[in-house]
Amino acid sequence: MRKSSRVLFLASSVAASWMAIASAQQPARPPVSQAATKKLALVGGMLLTGYEMPPIHHAAIVIDGNKIVAAGPASEVKIPADATVVDTSGRTMLPGLIETHGHLVVLGHGSYETWFPWIKAHGGDAMLTKVMEISAKQLLMAGITTTIDLGAPLSILSVRDRINKGEIVGSRMLVSGPWIAHLSGAGGGGAMQVGFGGLNISTPQQAAQETERLAAAGVDLIKAHSGLTLDDYKAIVDAAHKHRIRVHAHVYAESDVRHALEAGVDVLQHVGSAGTAPPYSPEMIRDIVNAGRPVVVTAAHRAWLYADTAAFPERLQDPEMKKLFPPEIFAEIQESLKNWPALGYFQRTDREMLYRERGVKQFIESGAVMGMGTDSGTPMNFHSEALWREIKVHVDMGMTPQRAIAAATRVNATIIGKGRELGTIEPGKIADIIVVKGNPLFDIVALSNVETVVKDGIVFKGGAAADTRTRSSSSR
Ligand SMILES: [Zn+2]
Ligand SMILES: [Zn+2]
Repeated sequence: MRKSSRVLFLASSVAASWMAIASAQQPARPPVSQAATKKLALVGGMLLTGYEMPPIHHAAIVIDGNKIVAAGPASEVKIPADATVVDTSGRTMLPGLIETHGHLVVLGHGSYETWFPWIKAHGGDAMLTKVMEISAKQLLMAGITTTIDLGAPLSILSVRDRINKGEIVGSRMLVSGPWIAHLSGAGGGGAMQVGFGGLNISTPQQAAQETERLAAAGVDLIKAHSGLTLDDYKAIVDAAHKHRIRVHAHVYAESDVRHALEAGVDVLQHVGSAGTAPPYSPEMIRDIVNAGRPVVVTAAHRAWLYADTAAFPERLQDPEMKKLFPPEIFAEIQESLKNWPALGYFQRTDREMLYRERGVKQFIESGAVMGMGTDSGTPMNFHSEALWREIKVHVDMGMTPQRAIAAATRVNATIIGKGRELGTIEPGKIADIIVVKGNPLFDIVALSNVETVVKDGIVFKGGAAADTRTRSSSSR
């Protein structure tokens, strides 16, 4: 091993330029972590950097404030005398995971038709905010340091901002707010559309107007639902890109995927997700690959989760998961899942099971740019475990563990436009790091065993986990 080449140093000009980009894109947002000025060192464990490179054994990472300043073999990294040292020996260090498709307004409840009315009857907006806060915390404790939320009322903006200010503990959020759907399309009505705050349009002009309105409200990205016309998608993409925000499309059927691809939608979500569409034509796959357009399959929910729950229904009462819920919410979710095979959400499972493997493999084998996202929060798809289950499905379908981890870290960061700040462990990047028990390259389910979570240079789980109040009071 050429050890000396593994020690990396801060490229301050790169850091300065992405800071400038970040602040230009988000003028209304507070600067990231003014408070974190302490030095932290994670020392001893194996290091996966997020690149598809061999791991660095017996490694060390040094963090100053909210930035990584050094990473490499422990024998070559100088640990500052005043650093707080977290011993990671015998375990694996890797970049904080990124979830590119979550839903904070749902917590795995079985039915949108009863969940949203339950929220309304138990405090309304206050309960909805509480639910979103619980979701964000569950995600962070599962090692997910950044989450894309793809569908929520605009009140999610204040949850996002309070997490960023350090007032509440949660995954860093980038949010779409309400999705945009066609009045006559699949997302055009029902409890789901109302609960997730979906907006209906019927012309490209309206699509552009709604995009403008959402951008002005401060969303980080736009979610365009299925059932929109080519011109609708084009109008949304043009308006969003003017504001330098990306568009994610919720698309299954090949005709929708084709429209979204041709309109320049930045990320194709759900594609290949089993059941609602058989595998795509070779031409469709070829065009996605040639365009380098990222796909997020959201494979595990429904098709795999159904079978996994049938095999082990005890997962629904996992005591570790139970601890992450207030008792009244846990009781309501348990009630909703009593007869889970009969839920409307699972009524296409036969087709989903039929296509599930081909749906994922068609992208793995074609060399498509693949991110990792789960639709977490949907029925039985708990925030605390959705992402490691999704990653496991990809590995089971032939993706190497290293590529799957890269997809959930480095590739996901690039897909969401944060590749210069997040997604890898190297100097200059924001210090989002997790430590897991065991070796995920040997057994990917090691990702379910997150012992330490560092976000923005602050330890939120394991080690000497910070009290969020300490941070928010010192940042004022
Ligand atoms: Zn979706
Ligand atoms: Zn979704």
